Amino acid sequence: MANVSLKHVTKEFEGNVTAVADFNLDINDKEFIIFVGPSGCGKTTTLRMIAGLEEITAGEILIDGRVVNDVQPKDRDIAMVFQNYALYPHMTVFENMAFSLKLRKIAKDEIKARVHVVSKILDIEHLLDRKPKALSGGQRQRVALGRAIVRKPKVFLMDEPLSNLDAKLRGQMRAEISKLHRDLQTTFIYVTHDQTEAMTMGTRIVVMKDGYIQQFNTPQTLYEKPDNLFVAGFIGSPQMNFKEVLVDKLGEEVHLKFGKCSLKLPHEKASKLEELGYIGKEVIMGIRPENIFDGDATLVSPADCLLEAGVEVVEMLGAETLLHVKIEGTDFIVRVNPQKRVKAGDIIKLAMNPIKLHIFDRESEKTIM
Ligand code: ATP
Repeated sequence: MANVSLKHVTKEFEGNVTAVADFNLDINDKEFIIFVGPSGCGKTTTLRMIAGLEEITAGEILIDGRVVNDVQPKDRDIAMVFQNYALYPHMTVFENMAFSLKLRKIAKDEIKARVHVVSKILDIEHLLDRKPKALSGGQRQRVALGRAIVRKPKVFLMDEPLSNLDAKLRGQMRAEISKLHRDLQTTFIYVTHDQTEAMTMGTRIVVMKDGYIQQFNTPQTLYEKPDNLFVAGFIGSPQMNFKEVLVDKLGEEVHLKFGKCSLKLPHEKASKLEELGYIGKEVIMGIRPENIFDGDATLVSPADCLLEAGVEVVEMLGAETLLHVKIEGTDFIVRVNPQKRVKAGDIIKLAMNPIKLHIFDRESEKTIM
């Protein structure tokens, strides 16, 4: 068992820097948790506090129900994998993997057996006699993982372990780490600034900004029901499109208006906005690239408002095409069928799916719906 809890954890550095503010989190045994957020939001500091490499200013960290604030890193039963691998250059792969077990005075035969089992899992058996400088980036990363796995820790902490690898290898290692998590049945806590990595690997994701948790939930919930404008913009690639719009009442209907465009809202959304007093006010509308349709398509009903869009860039990605367009002076990205023949400079008609619209309060930036 390895539950990890953070209760009101705060970290202040000298010079009045609050790196992590009142952080509360309950991580269950065997979860794969990702900390994601832009540079400087406090991800590494949080991970280092869990590892015991950074003292905490206030609050409590518990591993398996035991407060570990004053427990040495080596006694926390965790293993950390760093971005730069941190392998010992003068030792062979075998010695690197065996090192922490030797320190624990584990019997030689046992060490040998463990290193061999783990090196087989990671497909690095043939590299055991080499020194780190004779390895590729991907192989070094596997050794760093192997060194952590042989210790059989309760919790794995990983800080951007794939950031030094090229895009192809990163994709491959992502899949391997997910598989490793399934096989090892251990708690993983993983830091990245890459939302794709977060979305594809995490069972739950902590989205952070400026030392605060913005939202903690499953990848699907973050994508479909972001709590605020920041999460909506951070999760998803290409990102959600945003536009300031006016909420207007036309007879019984509620519309979102911008420039010449007027989008009629479905009943449920309309009545909620009215109940909350947003008629006559500006809000921020959000729509994902896949929820804007080609106006020529049969998906569009005659009642839909067609938006005029100027195509600026066409990105053909094979299975899909991304159009960078301007609608009423604002940039939008639209995901369309690759069959659509369109080129930069064209003026096209687009429609938005009103059921899929997200609406945010302009001041608080919180999600209204
Ligand atoms: P990145 O993705 O760039 O690694 P991060 O989200 O991991 O960023 P942290 O490294 O945790 O962010 O840093 C959080 C904040 O704390 C930043 O403002 C950083 O400048 C500050 N910080 C980190 N370490 C120290 C330190 N030793 N002394 C003072 N400030 C620090």
